[in-house]
Formats: sequence, C-alpha cells, structure tokens
Amino acid sequence: MSDVAVDVLVVGAGPAGSAAALHAARAGHEVLVVEAGPLGRDKTCGDGLTPRAIHQLERLGLADAITSHYVNHGLKLHGYGGDVTAPWPSSAYGTLGSAMPRTAFDEYLARAAIAGGATVWDNATATAPDVIDGTLTRVTVTRSSVESTVRARWVIVADGVRSTFGRQLGREWHRGEVYGIAARSYVSSSRSDDPWMHSHVELRDEDDTILPGYGWIFPLADGTVNLGCGALSTDARPARLNTKKLLAHYARQQRTDWGLGEPERVTSAMLPMGGAVSGVAGRNWMIIGDAAAGVNPLNGEGIDYGLEMAEHAVTLLDAGYADLTDVWPQLLRDRYGEAFLLARTAARLLTYPKFLPAVGPLALRGPVGARLMPTAARLMANLITDEDRDLMARLWRAAGGTVSAVRRGTPLWS
Ligand SMILES: Cc1cc2nc3c(=O)[nH]c(=O)nc-3n(C[C@H](O)[C@H](O)[C@H](O)COP(=O)(O)OP(=O)(O)OC[C@H]3O[C@@H](n4cnc5c(N)ncnc54)[C@H](O)[C@@H]3O)c2cc1C
Repeated sequence: MSDVAVDVLVVGAGPAGSAAALHAARAGHEVLVVEAGPLGRDKTCGDGLTPRAIHQLERLGLADAITSHYVNHGLKLHGYGGDVTAPWPSSAYGTLGSAMPRTAFDEYLARAAIAGGATVWDNATATAPDVIDGTLTRVTVTRSSVESTVRARWVIVADGVRSTFGRQLGREWHRGEVYGIAARSYVSSSRSDDPWMHSHVELRDEDDTILPGYGWIFPLADGTVNLGCGALSTDARPARLNTKKLLAHYARQQRTDWGLGEPERVTSAMLPMGGAVSGVAGRNWMIIGDAAAGVNPLNGEGIDYGLEMAEHAVTLLDAGYADLTDVWPQLLRDRYGEAFLLARTAARLLTYPKFLPAVGPLALRGPVGARLMPTAARLMANLITDEDRDLMARLWRAAGGTVSAVRRGTPLWS
C-alpha cells in the first residue's frame, strides 16, 4: 500500500473530471485524477455538443480539434405532420455545435489534462472516503488490485450518474423530480455528414399508438450517426417504456430516410436532471457534473454543464474558503437554480402521456411552429445569457423567478 499526497484529487475522468483536472493543473495545483475505467471508456450518450459546450471547450483551448472535424448548426425537429428548423441562436456562446463519439471525446479531454500537467490513473477506483468533521481526509484507490491511500487538500468528485463514491459521502438523488431514461446506438448512415441534430418528437409503435418518448439522430461525420431515444420520468409517473425496443423500432422507421444499417453497441442509461440531488459538498470537497445532476431537463444535455461546473469548482479552490459545504451548492443555485427549476417544471408536463399529442401538432406545423420552435429551441438549450435583453430572455428570467418562489423547498442541491 502506497501513500500519495496531492493538492487536488479528482474522482472520474469524464468530461467534468478531466476539465476540472485541466483547470486545476493550469492554476498551478498538483492534480491526480483516478478513473475506474480505461482512458476513453465508453459512456452512453447522444454525443451532441451544443454551442454552450463548444464555448467551454474554447476556454480550455480544445474546441478547434473538434469543430475542425464536424460542426452542426442547430436542431431540426420532426413530427405531428411538421418539420421545424431551429438554428443555434446568436449568443455569447457562439453558433457552432458539434458531435463526437464519447470514447474519442473523453480520451481527448483526459489526454489534454495529462498534457496540462495532471497525473491520471486509469483502471483506478476510489472508495472508502474517510471524513472527519466534514473534511475528506483520505481516499483508498484500488488499481490492478493494489491499494493506495490518497490524501488531498481538495477533492472534486465527478463520478457520474451512479455516483457510487459520492453516495458514500452522502450525495442523494431525488427521483420524485423529473429524470430521463434513454438508449443510444451507433448506426452506419449515408447522411453521416448532415450538419443538423435531428429530433423526432412523435414516435409510434407498430399499432400506430403514440409512445411517450422522443428519438434523436446526431450525425458524427465518420460514416455513422448516434441514434437514440428517451423519455422523461418521475417516481409518480414512471415512463413505461422499453427504450432498447423503441430504439430498434425507431431505427426501422428512419432506415430509408437516413440510409441506415443495423444499430450497434446499443446501451441504455438514466439521466439525473436539473440539480435534483443533495449532499453535494463538504468542507474540502465538491460534487460536479452528472453526479450533481447537472443535466438540462429539457434536452438531456449535460456535457456543457459538467465542463462549466468544473471551471466553477476550481475557482473556489484558491478563493480562501475554509468550508465549501454551503458555498458550492449556493454557487450552483445562483448560476443554474432558476433555469433548472423552470426547465424541470416544464419537463414535468412531458411526463403526462397526453401532453405532446395535444400540443405537438400546433407546435410543429405551419406558421405557428415556424415562429415558436426556434424560440423554444433556444429556451430548451438554455442558450440565454444574463446579458441577453430581448423580450423572450426577460420573460424566461421572470418565469424562472416566479417558479423558484413558488417551488421554494424543492430539492435543488440542498
Ligand atoms: C442516453 C443519453 C444521451 C445523452 N446525450 C447527451 C448529449 O447528446 N449531449 C450532452 O451534452 N449530454 C448528453 N447526455 C448526458 C451526458 O452523457 C452526461 O451529462 C455527461 O457524461 C456527464 O459527464 P460527467 O463527467 O459528469 O460523468 P461521466 O461522463 O459519467 O464520467 C464519470 C466517470 O467517473 C468514473 N467513476 C465512477 N465512479 C468512480 C470511482 N469510484 N472511482 C473512479 N472513477 C469513477 C466513471 O468510470 C466515469 O468515467 C446523455 C446521457 C444519456 C444517458
């Protein structure tokens, strides 16, 4: 058993953990990242990168390698007899999106962290956090059956949706709030270079019954597309859906349009959403990314929030706080609270099976849809910044303030 001491221990080398490691290393800290899987392990994901994610990658100097391979310009929504194109709106985040398989994307970020000065141990699992008076004093890391004790001044926990390490620290996920279930696959396609992310919001089974889910096709410009489907759920209204079966059916429906082969590497996973977790910090540790439910409930994107939370967490390391227990959740609530709570409240409507069939035809067809959906896409992707002063931005902020006041006491990193 070896004993290692570092400034910053990061648990998990997904996008959130690798970004945190790179920010911390660049800030001059000695950083150790431990990742339970191999570098570039697979992660069930749609692989889509919104402008918000690209913006964050630009801040790390990592965007060009991704956008030089492929860019997309926004969303195309299909269903209920209509099609609406919603380009990424101009905002401080820019107007470029992209997509990259997670094996490649995550390995690229982890290697950038190493190049930036962090040490990364792969196939290394963190367990047994030893907490004394709120301070995480040491962690056991097991790598190839060899145990090490790691002591760190600060610990950033980025261990994903299951957050097995976070749970040992007391992190709790509140599933009474809306969460996602989804499956993804990789499929060869003649339209792998299509420069739009496509979403089908009207899914029907063999009997032509509308299912309470949605499908996506995100081109990857490598001869394949990421094809998946998902649904929103709460404990009270669980989505009764076999996502893998739905995926196979959806792929058959899109086969001709997209020149599809057979879905491969089909996997499914859950998405915690909208900050519906508590126990996200202690005196010297913070939980970020999916483990902190940093996923937008209206579109399931979480890479951008993971990257942003990584940067926010690192800014707190040297800010002179003796205790991060309240500081970290307060920062999350200040940055994301209103938008996430509003999105969570709106997303709850989608868990009512009759909601989409009722509003879908209005939203996606004709002149109403053409005007409404680009705005909706901007709201769904949370591409409104504090600097935006247009009417829709002001209405969104006002609605966020109202929902926050009404739903005071709802779990939100607390
Ligand atoms: C079907 C689906 C589709 C999605 N589509 C999109 C999309 O298109 N765009 C988007 O932005 N988001 C999407 N998301 C969400 C996105 O995948 C997550 O938000 C993102 O992966 C979060 O990154 P993370 O770094 O927090 O966690 P992860 O990427 O899950 O990384 C956590 C890492 O921690 C490691 N780990 C866990 N426990 C330990 C431990 N004890 N010790 C050491 N290491 C540990 C794991 O091995 C893992 O590598 C989707 C999610 C799903 C399920």
